[in-house]
Amino acid sequence: MKRSRPTKARNGGRGGGGRGPARGMAESEIIFDWNREQAPPRPPLPFDLHDETLRDGLQSPSVTDPALGDKLELLELMDALGIRSVNVGLPGAGKRAFDDTVALCRHVQKRKLGVVPSAAGRTVLADIKPIAEAQQRSGQKLVLYTFIGSSPIRQFAEDWDVDFIVRTSVEAIDFAVKEGLEVAYVTEDTVRSSPATLDRLLRAAVEHGASRLVLCDTVGHATPDGARALVRWVRGLLAGLGASHVKLDWHGHNDRGLAVPNALAALEAGAQRLHACGLGVGERVGNTSMDQLLLNLRLMGWYDHDLGKLVPYVQKVSQACRIPIPVNYPLSGSDAFRTATGVHAAAIIKAQKRGDAWLADRIYSGVPAGEFGKRQEIEIGHMSGMSNVRYWLGQRGIPCEDALCQDILQRAKTCAWTLKDEEVLEVVAAHGLLPRGAVLKGKRILG
Ligand SMILES: [Zn+2]
Repeated sequence: MKRSRPTKARNGGRGGGGRGPARGMAESEIIFDWNREQAPPRPPLPFDLHDETLRDGLQSPSVTDPALGDKLELLELMDALGIRSVNVGLPGAGKRAFDDTVALCRHVQKRKLGVVPSAAGRTVLADIKPIAEAQQRSGQKLVLYTFIGSSPIRQFAEDWDVDFIVRTSVEAIDFAVKEGLEVAYVTEDTVRSSPATLDRLLRAAVEHGASRLVLCDTVGHATPDGARALVRWVRGLLAGLGASHVKLDWHGHNDRGLAVPNALAALEAGAQRLHACGLGVGERVGNTSMDQLLLNLRLMGWYDHDLGKLVPYVQKVSQACRIPIPVNYPLSGSDAFRTATGVHAAAIIKAQKRGDAWLADRIYSGVPAGEFGKRQEIEIGHMSGMSNVRYWLGQRGIPCEDALCQDILQRAKTCAWTLKDEEVLEVVAAHGLLPRGAVLKGKRILG
């Protein structure tokens, strides 16, 4: 079995602590990467990302519809991350949604952003007319994502037959094309739809001018095998129709916790645009998480755009939608790079003592914090050792006197939680070693 070769785009390609291991070693000499053994080197087709935070994300029952100013800021952050397509809303939903859509489109134009805005609507004229009007009023090209359910379970519940779905879809697409809209045709619940139905619907959509097909895992049913099988089947259908120019999108939800692996599997199978939402917000347990997707695409070496704004983007989604970031959330959670465990902390500290930030960032983390503007944090808790205490004090310029270190460790061992900064500082204060400017019980200590 051949060993993985380090490449520039992999962990360690760039950023803080990302210069590669010290002393001329190759990354592959100290990390054997099984992830690379059977993975394709790149997705088969060029791809981009489509942000649904401001449309599907807002369908979460717990989110607050952000103020327009927050939406504009989010648009800027998406642009800064290299996201090339953004769903700016469902203008048919009411005046506020319509006005926001127009304002977001005008902002894209005014700021000359690299994103192409799109808007969603059912395959009914009442939803599509406001989108055509928003395009006209803003003077900004707007892509229509028009959707209808296609699975047998949905047909049964709605009392639809395939003829009805085809007829409705074709009328909607014809109308939109006449209105000068680019059309993406969205079959809701595609992953539970039969090949016979999909053959009719997708064929009709392409014949009537849809330039994209959106394959949806609307209810979070798919596994990576299912995602791959569906994308490959539709690719085959398009090739048979002589319509390989029609693009394929993947849109997934996270009900089984598989949204990110499904999106990656769809990409490997030939999807060209992946839909996702910041912080994974969305109905029920949410959509594919855009930030987790970007994180993985970067670590896989498949996404080269600067991700310096990735954590600020998640923080902005959290603040604007009023959804807290779970402490153990990948990359952006407050615990993502925090450890109080003695053995883990000792390894990180040893690496730092060698002056090797690259090593310190990877010894106990699959995600190098420094590449994303974060850093490893070492705390003191009941599972800590003396190295945690010495490191903690050293970081704050407090002398590591033996009696002080023993007392802090003793305090930690009697606690069932990780010590808060203030709890450690209380012990420091008892030894008369508080540094100038330390804050204890809300009071700044002048020292
Ligand atoms: Zn959805």
